[in-house]
Amino acid sequence: MRMLAYAFLILSTLSTQVRSEGFLPCSHLHLLTPAHSELRNDRIRAIIGRVIQKARYPLNGFELCQIDWFVPSMVVTAIEPRAVYKILLPTYMERMSESEIEGLAAHEIGHIPLMSTMMNRGVRLEVATDTQAALWVGKDTVIAGLRALIRYIDYFPEEDHASVIEELEFRVHTLRNRDISQR
Ligand SMILES: [Zn+2]
Repeated sequence: MRMLAYAFLILSTLSTQVRSEGFLPCSHLHLLTPAHSELRNDRIRAIIGRVIQKARYPLNGFELCQIDWFVPSMVVTAIEPRAVYKILLPTYMERMSESEIEGLAAHEIGHIPLMSTMMNRGVRLEVATDTQAALWVGKDTVIAGLRALIRYIDYFPEEDHASVIEELEFRVHTLRNRDISQR
């Protein structure tokens, strides 16, 4: 617990330092593994910035990090005095198209408004998050992101391939059949 409090202290110090395009710098939260560092790809930074603006969150509530990991994710690193969200993107996403990155980023950001719900983790939460993301960027864009993960399945642990593909295909199918009126 003491280490956690210490990490929050470091984070709140870093939070005062804002990068020129408006994001927070990627902080080194050593409690998180694997290691991650500042996401330096300007194309991806710009795409994510646009998604955050569509979702109407402040850019300076977000850290953009790259990680040697197989799946994009999002972690809340501070709640007070205001929320800080760390977006962690696998390095292989550099090779994805704009809509694929936009769809995957919208999904991660889509977790934010659903955090207060008591919905179970798992596929049900992922489907609800996909729907939230589609309200911001359109369902075709979210589907493009999900399909891109299927294309990069080799980065996932081999024993998970079948279950990951099954879940992603289920989410694509569910979203495609859902009636979503984009804002
Ligand atoms: Zn998710």
